[in-house]
Formats: sequence, structure tokens, C-alpha cells
Amino acid sequence: MTDGTKLDDEEGRLAALRRYDILCAGEEEQLGRIADLVRAVMDAPVAAISLIDADTQWFMAARGIDVRNVPRDTAFCNETIKRSEPLAISDLAADPRFALSAWVTGAEHARSYLGVPLKTPDGYNVGALCAIDREPRQFDQRQAGILEKLAEIVVEQFELRQIAKQDPMTGALTRRGFFGEVEREFLRAGRYGRPSTLAVIDIDHFKSINDRHGHPAGDAVLTSIANTCSAQMRKTDIFGRIGGEEFGLLLPETDAEEAREAGERIRRAVEATIVEFAGASIRATVSVGIAPMPAIAEGSATWFSEADIALYEAKRFGRNRVVVGKPRRPAALTTDPAHQIARPH
Ligand code: GH3
Ligand code: MG
Ligand code: MG
Repeated sequence: MTDGTKLDDEEGRLAALRRYDILCAGEEEQLGRIADLVRAVMDAPVAAISLIDADTQWFMAARGIDVRNVPRDTAFCNETIKRSEPLAISDLAADPRFALSAWVTGAEHARSYLGVPLKTPDGYNVGALCAIDREPRQFDQRQAGILEKLAEIVVEQFELRQIAKQDPMTGALTRRGFFGEVEREFLRAGRYGRPSTLAVIDIDHFKSINDRHGHPAGDAVLTSIANTCSAQMRKTDIFGRIGGEEFGLLLPETDAEEAREAGERIRRAVEATIVEFAGASIRATVSVGIAPMPAIAEGSATWFSEADIALYEAKRFGRNRVVVGKPRRPAALTTDPAHQIARPH
């Protein structure tokens, strides 16, 4: 692909979409204004900004239609994201791909379409910006060009929001961003009955690193450990800074045993790293608490607290280790003393 668009990497495309963390967000003002603008400059009754998930088209802003999401396979925009150029269809009813679509045959009376892909800087078409008319019509090059420019602005908006969700020191997600992801993954994995695992990583005796070498040296250690974690994880894993010296790692499609291996890799890599700062060679270690996703009825807060209890055990058993927690079912609570430990505050 000469323009760098990655059209054949659906997994990477979905990961890019997930990184934006916006599928469940409500409509935002800026996107609504762009949709207004599309409607005005195209002189079209309908304009929409949408994202294409694994099997759903989500509308981030829509004008002239009242819709939040529709199945992906009914979406015109699903055709648009398969290409890197604008898609113009002058008569939907005459196009075999769309003639039988409910959008064309049903109450919406869609008859013509102009859509351009929303392409991320790393080349994934995550969605589309489109204008729809209820009459057959020919959209021209100039209009397609305007839509392409507006699509760039939409993607810039997504990028800016993403930056706001990033911790400036480590580049990890902020606590808020991370827990938003945990909640989303909890619902996704629960719905599809998929394995998923959450890890909490805490730097050992970090206070004494600060005390001995100074706060800036502590910051360098923090950044180094964040980089080590990022280097060890899969591209579908999600990494966040959830406290001053505590990180969260969400491992979708991963069972507890695989997560333990990932946690061990991180633990060993941190242990083997020496941070050079202002003439000092600083070593640090981390403790890791891991919890497989609990039953959906437990809620995502239970998931985090199970990982946190496992982390507390890792600390209590001597630090620089990985502990995988067992689900805190009521029966296990009474029979397994390890799970009766409450973490002090
Ligand atoms: P433990 O092994 O039990 O986790 O001990 P600890 O010393 O790591 O834990 P504690 O919670 O007692 O101390 C955490 C320290 O982390 C205290 C706080 O000042 C420091 N800290 C938190 N955020 C930052 C930061 O952004 N930069 C630096 N340099 N230090 C930080
Ligand atoms: Mg600590
Ligand atoms: Mg801590």
C-alpha cells in the first residue's frame, strides 16, 4: 500500500480503535460541529462520523438520523474503510452491494453516499466520515477533498483526547483512562466468555530509592520500569499508571497462567535493569499481583481488588515476586486463609 494504509490487518485495526478508547463515549461538541459542517457544505440531509468495531458501527456524531449503533454488515462505511480513497455512490438503489440494505429500502431512504475513511497516523482505517442524501446525486472531487480534510481534523481530535489520557512522565494511560479500559474489557470478555487477566505492578521499596538518590532519580526509575513493562507486553495489552509508583496491566485473551509468565518476564527484566542517574547505578524490583477475570456478577471493582490482594501477598511474601490470586468466592474465603487477608491502608 503506497500511502501506508494497512487494509489487511483487522486485528491491528481493532487494537488501534481500542487505543482511542472512545467507542462508548457520548457525542462530543467538536464532532457534532464537524457533522454540522459536512451537512452544510455538502448540502446533504445526513452527515455522520462513525467508527467500525468488530461487528458494530458506532456513531460518534450523527445529523439527520437518530442512531447510536448498527450492525457492521449493514454499514455503507464498512465499504469505505476497505479502501484508502473516498467512496462515492451516486445511486445506492442501483448498487448491488447496497440495494437491499435497510438504509436504502427502509424509512431512512438513503439514495446516495459519500464517505472517506478516518485513518489513524499509523495507517488504520478505524471509521468513516460520510454524507448521505435521500436523492440520487453525483458527488464531485472537490467535495470528496473537503471531506478528506475534515476527516483529518476528526482523527486529530481523537489523537488529542488520547494524549489527554496519557500520563506525561511514563506515556502510560492515566488511572482514569486505565480503569475505563478495565470496565470495557470486563464487559467484552464477560459477554463473549473470553479469558482476561488484570495485573497490578508496584515498585518495591520505592520510598527508599527516593530517599537515597533523590526524587529525580526516582522519576528516572519510574520511567525506566514503565518502558520495561511496555517492551514486554503484547500490542493488545493495555498499560496504565494507576498510582504514584503503581501500574496496571490488562491482558485481554490471556489466562492466569499465561499472565503469570508475562508477569515473570516483567519482574525479571526490571530486576536485570540498572538505571544510571547522576553517577549512581540504581537497581529496583517490582511485585506483581495477578487476577483472572471474576464472574460478571462480581463487577469490575472485584477484579481490581483481587489483583490488589494478590499484590499485597507478593509484598508480604518478600517482594520481587509474582502472585496469582484465586477468585474470592464465598467458599474460598472461609476455607483459604490466604484470601482472608485485608490489605491495610
Ligand atoms: P513497597 O515495597 O511496600 O511498595 O514500598 P514503597 O516504598 O514502594 O511504598 P510506599 O507506598 O511506602 O512509597 C511509595 C513512594 O513512591 C512514596 C512516594 O513519595 C513515591 N512516589 C509516588 N509518586 C512518585 C513520583 O512520581 N516520583 C517519585 N520520584 N516518587 C514518587
Ligand atoms: Mg511500592
Ligand atoms: Mg504503591
